[in-house]
Amino acid sequence: MESNMEDDLINKVAAGLVGLHKVDEAVEPAAAARVRRMAVEKATGANLAAVDDSTMDYSAIRNRNAENVIGSTRIPLGVAGPLTVNGEFAAGKFYVPMATTEGALIASVSRGSKAITASGGANARIIENGMSRAPVFVLDSVSETGKFLEWVKLNTQGIRKAAEATTTHGKLIDITPFATGNNVWLRFRYDTGDAMGMNMVTIATEAACAHIEENFSGARCIAVSGNMCSDKKESLVNNLYGRGKSVLADAFVSGKVLDAVFGTTAAAANDVNVRKNLLGSARAGSFKYNAHFANVVAAVFAATGQDIAQVVESSSGYTWTEVRGDGLYISVTLPSLEVGTVGGGTSLPSQSGALSIMGVAGGGKPAGRNALRLAEIISAAVLAGELNLVCALSARDLGKAHKKLGRNVRE
Ligand code: NAP
Repeated sequence: MESNMEDDLINKVAAGLVGLHKVDEAVEPAAAARVRRMAVEKATGANLAAVDDSTMDYSAIRNRNAENVIGSTRIPLGVAGPLTVNGEFAAGKFYVPMATTEGALIASVSRGSKAITASGGANARIIENGMSRAPVFVLDSVSETGKFLEWVKLNTQGIRKAAEATTTHGKLIDITPFATGNNVWLRFRYDTGDAMGMNMVTIATEAACAHIEENFSGARCIAVSGNMCSDKKESLVNNLYGRGKSVLADAFVSGKVLDAVFGTTAAAANDVNVRKNLLGSARAGSFKYNAHFANVVAAVFAATGQDIAQVVESSSGYTWTEVRGDGLYISVTLPSLEVGTVGGGTSLPSQSGALSIMGVAGGGKPAGRNALRLAEIISAAVLAGELNLVCALSARDLGKAHKKLGRNVRE
């Protein structure tokens, strides 16, 4: 009987008579995934046996993580390390979970980790911490713009009260205004505890906007996100003001370790960094003065349930090197690393499992500590990836590694 009903539903969905999302109203979550998958198979001729996932808790996903679910896409999960991190919040040896289909990437971070750990570890420091949302307001004229900017400055406490009434963990840090004629962006920045915080700060800022419109006549909020936030877009504002965690990591690697692990010298590695990461990026007009932050950030984000589209700004940043004696000093700067250990996709079983490898799953004690630890560990892994790539290029080793580990075309 039940299977007849499912068959009927599959046929109707495949024929376009029932919408994909309507299936959720007819059957429980696991059955809905099955019905949609089989309907899509029927409609397209694709074989989707490989996305069938009986281990997935579909009821935990519905209305939280994804819509029109048909199964799951498996990405291989590996670990890089062990990597010694000497952070303010994360201290010790860590395995770093990375979900990727790019051969040689995890090996690259592991080799960098080996050199850094043999050199005493990566130091990591968080210098700013705040998630931003920047609504855009329109005013009648520039004289109103002047009055509005002054009013916001004098009334920050009332705005704060309205925003913070929506959340237990969110705390407004500051509001930075940007004006262009009769348009004003107010860039709200919040401490969001262990959450990456985008939903939290959007809800809080909506309440703040309502308070502003009620109390300053003539200011109209056009959009709660006015792109000065700046979410999932490359931007100067995040590089200058930071978004999420602004993190620094560094290490000193002796000439002996450079030779033993990479077969290179500090001078050769420094030359690659200056001419490739600094001059090459400047010449290309890139915001990203680094070799491959995005590789490491994307793989850790996918493994740990971060918002993957935020790799755009989370992988911005700078790699700096100096020759010191026969050794290499190397640092990375990530101005806008947006990470959380609660909320979003972080509580899904495999993502939460990956966070637990680093001891940072769920809320920290005190709240915020786990997200700070995660940010420091990621910055150290990014450092390991940069060290390895700069050294591999200087030793003319890159093609060799990819030939061995990253070729996928079967003969
Ligand atoms: P969330 O899953 O919406 O909410 C997390 C909530 O967890 C917080 O609001 C907080 O409740 C609670 N919480 C419990 N323990 C906590 C702790 N130790 N630290 C901090 N909070 C704790 O997650 P989110 O981080 O705010 O938002 C992430 C999601 O937003 C992702 O799914 C992402 O894809 C999505 N996103 C949304 C937008 C948007 O515009 N809305 C944009 C980009 C991405 P209280 O607030 O009551 O304290």
